[in-house]
Amino acid sequence: MSENCIFCKIGRGEIPAKKVYEDDDFVAFHDINPAAPVHLLLIPRRHIASMQDVTPEDAGWLGRMMAMAPRLAAENGCNPGPQGGFRIVVNSGAEGGQEVPHLHFHIIGGSRPWAGRA
Ligand code: ADP
Repeated sequence: MSENCIFCKIGRGEIPAKKVYEDDDFVAFHDINPAAPVHLLLIPRRHIASMQDVTPEDAGWLGRMMAMAPRLAAENGCNPGPQGGFRIVVNSGAEGGQEVPHLHFHIIGGSRPWAGRA
């Protein structure tokens, strides 16, 4: 736990968020500034700053977190099948575009913003 971390506060229910899922280890909620029709953030409750802090010992919970993403995407409006889909984006560190220093997966979909791009 990190006292002043905004995502820890969301996990603890101290600031509001539009939560779509929570269990003992993880919370998922709508991004406040969505980049697409579906834009969720999935976080571990325990504070870890970024992927830069992940070690092989984290493989278990990190694998569970990754494996939750397809169900969250499907349940929250991402289109099914190969013509649908979603992106999982994990910005890591300042040069990786990370602004909130609590590890989070962006789950983004519901449109085709990347059509025609590499
Ligand atoms: P970036 O802003 O470059 O995507 P991050 O990968 O750190 O950087 O993403 C932080 C995300 O957290 C942003 O998409 C932002 O809109 C979102 N966000 C910030 N504060 C809140 C909040 N209180 N509730 C929901 N989403 C938030």
